Amino acid sequence: MASIYLDHNATTPVRPEVYDAMEPFFRVRFGNASSIHRYGQEARSAVEEARSRVAGLVNARPGEIYFTSGGTESDNLALKGIAYTRRAFGRHIITTNIEHSAVLNSCGFLEREGFEVTYLPVDEYGRIDPGQVADALTGHTILISIMHANNEIGTVQPVGEIGRIARDNGVCFHTDAVQSAGKLPVDVEAMHADLLSLSGHKIYGPKGVGAIYIRNGVEIEPTAHGGHHENDVRSGTENTVGIVGLGKAAELAAEEREREFRNLSEMRDALEARIRFEIDGVRINGHPERRLPGTLNVSFCGAEGESLIMSLDLAGIAVSTGSACTSGAIEPSHVLLALGRDPRTALGSVRFSFGRDNTMRDVDCVMSRLPGIVSRLREVSAAQVTG
Ligand SMILES: *Cc1c(COP(=O)(O)O)cnc(C)c1O
Repeated sequence: MASIYLDHNATTPVRPEVYDAMEPFFRVRFGNASSIHRYGQEARSAVEEARSRVAGLVNARPGEIYFTSGGTESDNLALKGIAYTRRAFGRHIITTNIEHSAVLNSCGFLEREGFEVTYLPVDEYGRIDPGQVADALTGHTILISIMHANNEIGTVQPVGEIGRIARDNGVCFHTDAVQSAGKLPVDVEAMHADLLSLSGHKIYGPKGVGAIYIRNGVEIEPTAHGGHHENDVRSGTENTVGIVGLGKAAELAAEEREREFRNLSEMRDALEARIRFEIDGVRINGHPERRLPGTLNVSFCGAEGESLIMSLDLAGIAVSTGSACTSGAIEPSHVLLALGRDPRTALGSVRFSFGRDNTMRDVDCVMSRLPGIVSRLREVSAAQVTG
């Protein structure tokens, strides 16, 4: 049976080079980066080298990078940290209705704390118009948080223009770049970003480690208080092993980004063309051009997404739905609903996300199975409707 992984937006495997870089830090180089002796110094210098590499990936200075436990923590820290620091200046936050749940649920928490949040709607391709952001500003706006690229549909936002508007109005700008880092140019200067979130396991690093960029001079209230690590922004003994892995992954991602972009785009475009040609009643979700290179989200009208995933899994092909499964009930994806898809279409959607180990043969393999699976599931659901 085939064994094809097409779910890289959910997570990626740790690259061998990354694993090799991490391995000594489990065993011989186990020191605490805060200790004064040589064990500590060795860990400290590895952490600082990783910080430089992560800074290099996003065109920041090393002192503007803080390590966290991942994208979720970075998003929480950005939203809650800025909200608490700036609450005296205003309590209004602007975001979009297609953000990752780490941002949306942090906003929900802040609403319960008395902040006011504007959730901007997106167009049918999932794009925000920077003019909408400008129109949503009030005298009380303290923060704009808009993701760089969407994890479900891959749509890329005009973050440079949005950041410019934030800067011109003295408002903080945070962007979640967890999906775009290593795939698109990510440059905190070109984006005018004040804060930016990253995660290790989306770029072939380990799970449970991430980073946040915080522009020099931007004050932030920590969410974890403790022993003053990471310049008092994020306390807790540094996860040296994870940080070294993230640093190596960031270095490799920066070196290989352009080549990867071409490879991923080619495979994605080939799969998209063949799906359109060989299967009726499909709709591509996301922007046709302004989209992550390896992401393809497709609605197969009249077929059920969860069943498609399970049938593909039985054929050895791992993909995701655009929808999350909560407490047994299958909910249509908030992102697809925001594009204006009806709930039934949203539930018939599948996300294919390519990675560095995929090849064109994987596209062939998917297309040897997918048309048959789709037509079988359509027959099943048509029978249910008429029966
Ligand atoms: C995966 C993801 C996150 C969460 O990152 P974790 O490291 O898994 O906590 C946040 N935002 C986006 C866009 C993601 O894809």
